[in-house]
Amino acid sequence: MLLNLHTHLEGTVRPGTAAELAEVAGCPTPVGGWENAFRIKGPGNLTVFLSHVAAAYPLLGRAENLRRVAFEAVQDAALDGQSYIELRLGPGTHARPNLSVLKVLEAVCTGVAEATAATGIHAGVIACMLRHEPQDLVEEIARAAVGLANSGVVGLDIAGDELLYPSLDRFAPLYALARDAGLGLTAHAAEAGPGSAAREAVESLGVSRIGHGSHIADEPKLLDWIRDEGVTIEVCPTSNVLTGAAPSLAEHPVHAFVKAGIAVALGDDNPENTGVRLSEEVRLLVTKGDLKAEAVAGFARHAINAAFCSDAVRRDLAALLDHEAT
Ligand SMILES: [Zn+2]
Repeated sequence: MLLNLHTHLEGTVRPGTAAELAEVAGCPTPVGGWENAFRIKGPGNLTVFLSHVAAAYPLLGRAENLRRVAFEAVQDAALDGQSYIELRLGPGTHARPNLSVLKVLEAVCTGVAEATAATGIHAGVIACMLRHEPQDLVEEIARAAVGLANSGVVGLDIAGDELLYPSLDRFAPLYALARDAGLGLTAHAAEAGPGSAAREAVESLGVSRIGHGSHIADEPKLLDWIRDEGVTIEVCPTSNVLTGAAPSLAEHPVHAFVKAGIAVALGDDNPENTGVRLSEEVRLLVTKGDLKAEAVAGFARHAINAAFCSDAVRRDLAALLDHEAT
């Protein structure tokens, strides 16, 4: 059973959709076409990786485009066989003078709700604050996420350059606001930064999940601490290789997480950029990553436990998984 706990809307734009949206908006076609602009050619670093993700940004500054792209992201997840997807985005990136952060999130929630109705799979939206964004903007994002807590937004996240902007202090009150509103809490941490960044996110932001967390594996004591705290790590295998956070699938930190008994859930991060969807991530973890198929299958149970969904959806997903096991 496939549950996708970490995927970015910006990395799900179909090249064909990009071409259509660009034509309407009068955006120039990138040299080599949209698929070439989106697709990462091989292992590099986070900067190169993000430049491919950013190729979609000029297309996402309109509510109707966000709605369509969100719809198609959930539709593609369903076609991939996923039963649940949490779709995250940085609404501050797409806001414009005539398109507020709230309107960005509303448009995405509408597209996700329409796709949920059309496909029958469960889905939710996570709002990402970016580490470099000014204070008034990150506050606007948190407030908009809280305002939509019962209308599609299920969680709050922080993303962006950990090395340039390591401090979490200014985000802590916003996470408290989100927690009080019943939102799930996660943070990109220890992807480029040290393992201690993950511990800090747990302690100062109160997150129950860590995105990537690759460098947690560098510190045996921290692995134990993460396990004992019951934190789930959202692992995006191929993305980690392409950003340089992991040398290969065979030498991926997921092995250390599994060995330490940490709860691992999977995501495909930016599938149009990596060219790898969740079903393929699962397959590759076994064939190239040398993980036991039973270990990978166990990730689904962790994902159900850690999902930012209602109790009713959690029961539904658990029943699906039980049914699959029989
Ligand atoms: Zn991510």
